Amino acid sequence: MTLSSKKDVVIVGGGISGLIAANILENKGIKTTILDKGRGIGGRLATRRIPHSEDITGVFDYGMQLFTVTDARVQQLVDQWLAEDVITKWSNEYGDRKIPCYRGCESNRSLGKYLAKDLDVNLQTRAISVQNSDSGWTVKTESGQDFQGNILIMTCPVPQSLTLLKNSGFLLPSSIQSRLEGVSYYPCITILGLLEKLSLIPNSGWLTLNNYSVATIACNHKKGISPQGFAVTIHSTPEFSWDHWDTDDEIIVEKLLDSTSNWLGSKVIDYQVHRWRYSQPKTVYGEPFLALENPNSLILAGDAFSETPALNRYLTLEKAVLSGIKSAQYLENKM
Ligand SMILES: Cc1cc2nc3c(=O)[nH]c(=O)nc-3n(C[C@H](O)[C@H](O)[C@H](O)COP(=O)(O)OP(=O)(O)OC[C@H]3O[C@@H](n4cnc5c(N)ncnc54)[C@H](O)[C@@H]3O)c2cc1C
Repeated sequence: MTLSSKKDVVIVGGGISGLIAANILENKGIKTTILDKGRGIGGRLATRRIPHSEDITGVFDYGMQLFTVTDARVQQLVDQWLAEDVITKWSNEYGDRKIPCYRGCESNRSLGKYLAKDLDVNLQTRAISVQNSDSGWTVKTESGQDFQGNILIMTCPVPQSLTLLKNSGFLLPSSIQSRLEGVSYYPCITILGLLEKLSLIPNSGWLTLNNYSVATIACNHKKGISPQGFAVTIHSTPEFSWDHWDTDDEIIVEKLLDSTSNWLGSKVIDYQVHRWRYSQPKTVYGEPFLALENPNSLILAGDAFSETPALNRYLTLEKAVLSGIKSAQYLENKM
C-alpha cells in the first residue's frame, strides 16, 4: 500500500465537474488531487480512436456531442476556451432554438485535457472506499494506494457515488439518502462506426433524428476530428436503449444501421458498441451540490446536481460545469 502526500481536497471523478472545481480551488491556493478510474481524462467528454489499417484510423467523439450555454459564469469560461482555441462554435441553432452550440476543436476529450493540464490527476485509479476520521478523508483505490485530504468531493454519477459510500460503510442521513436514490439517468447505446465512404450526413457533421431508435448521428470526419477515417457516431434514444440494453451487439448494430442507412450511404468496415448506463440525468437532486459537514466536508457534485432539469434532456454539460463552480465556491468561502 502506498500513501500519497495529504492534499486539502481529494476529488473522485475527473469529468468536467471535478475538473472545473479543481481549477477554481487551485487558483485560490487550495491543493487538490483528482482520482479517475478511466484511461483518459474528461469522463463523458469521451473520444476514442479505432485503428483499422495502416492508412485508416477512426476518431470518435462518442459521449457528449455539443453543449450550449445559458449562464453568464459558464459563458465567461466558454469565451476563454474559445479564445484559446480549445473549443469552437459548431452551429448557431439547436433544433428550433437559435442558440450557439459548441464542441472541442481537436475532440471533446481535448477540453478535458486542457482543464487537467495544471492539475494533479491520477488516471486508471478507481476509488473503492472512503473513510472519514478526525484527521480527514482517506480514499482507498483498487491498486492499493491511499489518498488523503481534509475534504472529499465526489462527482461520479450519483448511483456510483452511493455504491462507493455504501461499500465504505458510510451512512448518509436517511432523508438525503432517499433524495439521492431518487436521482436517475437516461441510458444511451452508442455505435462507433467506421465507414468505407464519406457519409451523407450534412456538411456540418451533425444531425438530430429523434425517431424511436436514433437520437443523433455525427460524422467525425466532416467535423474535422477524424481526417483518416469516415468515423460516424450514432447515439440511440433512451427508449431504444431501455428496450435493448441486454440485446446482443450484432442485433443492436443491425437495427441502428438500418434506421440510419439513408444518412450513412456506405458499408460499415468496423464498429464498436458502447453502453452508457448514465448518459444524462433524467431526475435531478434539486440543488447545485450536496455538502455534509461530519466532521470533515463531503461534497457531492456533477450534472445531476442542479435546481432544475436541463431545458433539453440532452444538454446537461452546462449543469455539470455549474455544479463544479458552485461547489468550489462553497468550499472557498468555508476555508
Ligand atoms: C452519450 C452521451 C451524449 C451526451 N450528449 C450531450 C450533449 O450533446 N450535450 C450536453 O450538454 N451533454 C451531453 N451529455 C452529457 C454530458 O456529457 C454530461 O452532463 C457531463 O459530461 C457530465 O460531467 P460530470 O463531471 O458530471 O460527470 P462525468 O463526466 O461522468 O465524470 C464522472 C467521473 O467519475 C469517474 N468515476 C466514477 N466512479 C469512480 C470511482 N469509483 N473511482 C474513480 N473515478 C470514478 C468516471 O470515470 C468519470 O470520469 C452526453 C453524455 C453522454 C454519455
